[in-house]
Amino acid sequence: MNILLVYPAMPPSFWSFSYALRLIGKKAAMPPLSLLTVAGLIPRGEHDIRLVDLNVRDLSDADLAWSDAVFISAMIVQRDSFHEVARRARQAGKITVAGGPYPTSYVGSDELRDVDYLVLDEVEETLHGFLNDLDRGTAACVYRASRKPPITLSPVPRYDLIDLDDYTSMLVQFSRGCPKNCEFCDITKLYGRVPRTKAPGQVLTELGQLYNLGWQGHVFFVDDNFVGNWRAALELMPFLIEWQAERGFPFSFTTEASIDIVRHPALLEAMAAARFEEVFVGIETPSIEALRTMKKHQNIARGDPQFLERAVRALQGYGFEVMAGFILGVDDEPENPFDPMIEFIQEAGIPMATVSLQAVLPGTDLEKRLGREGRLRGDTTGTNFELVLNYVPQKDPALLIEGYERVLDTIYDARLEMYFGRCLTLMTRLRRRHWPKSRWAPSWIRALPTLLWTVPREIPSEIAVSALKFLVRVLRRHPKFLPEALVYIAKGHHLRQMTEQLLISEAFEVCVERELRAIVAELARCAALQVRDMEEHVRAYLEEHLALLRCEYAKVHADFKYRTARSVQRFFVTIKTELRCFGIVHGVELEKF
Ligand code: SF4
Repeated sequence: MNILLVYPAMPPSFWSFSYALRLIGKKAAMPPLSLLTVAGLIPRGEHDIRLVDLNVRDLSDADLAWSDAVFISAMIVQRDSFHEVARRARQAGKITVAGGPYPTSYVGSDELRDVDYLVLDEVEETLHGFLNDLDRGTAACVYRASRKPPITLSPVPRYDLIDLDDYTSMLVQFSRGCPKNCEFCDITKLYGRVPRTKAPGQVLTELGQLYNLGWQGHVFFVDDNFVGNWRAALELMPFLIEWQAERGFPFSFTTEASIDIVRHPALLEAMAAARFEEVFVGIETPSIEALRTMKKHQNIARGDPQFLERAVRALQGYGFEVMAGFILGVDDEPENPFDPMIEFIQEAGIPMATVSLQAVLPGTDLEKRLGREGRLRGDTTGTNFELVLNYVPQKDPALLIEGYERVLDTIYDARLEMYFGRCLTLMTRLRRRHWPKSRWAPSWIRALPTLLWTVPREIPSEIAVSALKFLVRVLRRHPKFLPEALVYIAKGHHLRQMTEQLLISEAFEVCVERELRAIVAELARCAALQVRDMEEHVRAYLEEHLALLRCEYAKVHADFKYRTARSVQRFFVTIKTELRCFGIVHGVELEKF
């Protein structure tokens, strides 16, 4: 059987780094580890496999024509692209098979009707049974796992199916599951609270595969919580250090961990020696009351209200850049959570802070609680970059959204001065960093000419001026950080563009609502006054207001137009209905937007 693995497109988000990628000529930030793992589980020789990552290239009709079955793996955030792929595969008469967090969280819902088979939960447990049944013609519609399998069963991902040069980072996974119990989190529901780890040899084999394929540079340990089982993580370190040292430290590492990693100094020393450079932690909020409400107990230390600040400083002291997630709209946060959050991020020297509005994910304890309280409102898009609330917050939603926009517009201001300030603060705190060989990795050196060509063309002049000042300061005070400084400029450009587009698309939606109200009111006024030549008057009025909307719409970047699709559709449907009520059906070219 010819199996086509398709990874749906990710909408732009903080983590997509799409604007930064353009500067260095890369196509995507990270490869689809889930599908590479699926590929590793499919017995070689029995099936032919191809992989299409829609974040790298389009799905062609030829791809579909080649395949017998299309396997799609997706997270909630990839939902739209997922359904587009499923629709095309169905139309082409192919078997469609879906798995991953999105289908697993929405099993039983109508929206998954466009796939033939759901292979859910952890694929190491469900894929073989499905493939055997499919072979015998007895496949069931849904395959579920009855346990959380040991991930020692996980195969070496088939990195050979992708072009490594398309990506800025490679991914490996050491552990799955997390022992914590944060109220908003779906990880513990999907992967359990008992962390399962790979054997050190398994991890080294995966790294070896990447190394043998020519990869040098950045590798992300995409664990749910790297210190979920901190003893196992500590046991891995001597193997990792030795492996790196034998090859001259070809990789630098990033991982995600709960902030109580700071309580394990021996592990942190070893991670630094292994060339971990960045740790992503969920700080969520500096408000202790809100942390208690979200059951983020690991972020609170009794009798130490400054615990989070000190923890970040301590991690930076080991040489790690701390990247952090923040949430607004949590119950029991202060009336003004915005300024303390800005202050925290700035003081802590966290260049990359992903601030998002709280989203209620399916299956979480938060969903249960808000459901009991009658505060749920619709579904989530699953992105960390959204202005739609799917629950009733304690605060006025308009104030919350306004405050959220202000936080983003401050930490990623138009000149990125606050951002570059945080980068410099961080550099002064990273004195103890071990430098990996990969700082000028071959892929980086290859990207430099593209960078020199694209930066003057892509980066707005106000950012370019601040970036230049930043570079001069780095060269004067922290010359060793020059490669990092270039990366910070590219990342900062992305973060500002994301912020700007969020604000522009939000302003456009507000404009659509305002214009809609104005047009409907004008129609009612004309009808009430029985205006002469009403049709002509309405046409002229509409044209004038549509011209304004078109002008605003043009400001929304093509990558973000999808965000406005719903309000644009609502606008046209409402106007058409209203016009029909007044018998005006012809001559207004509404769709020319
Ligand atoms: S520490 Fe992270 S992964 Fe673990 S439950 Fe909390 S949010 Fe989820």
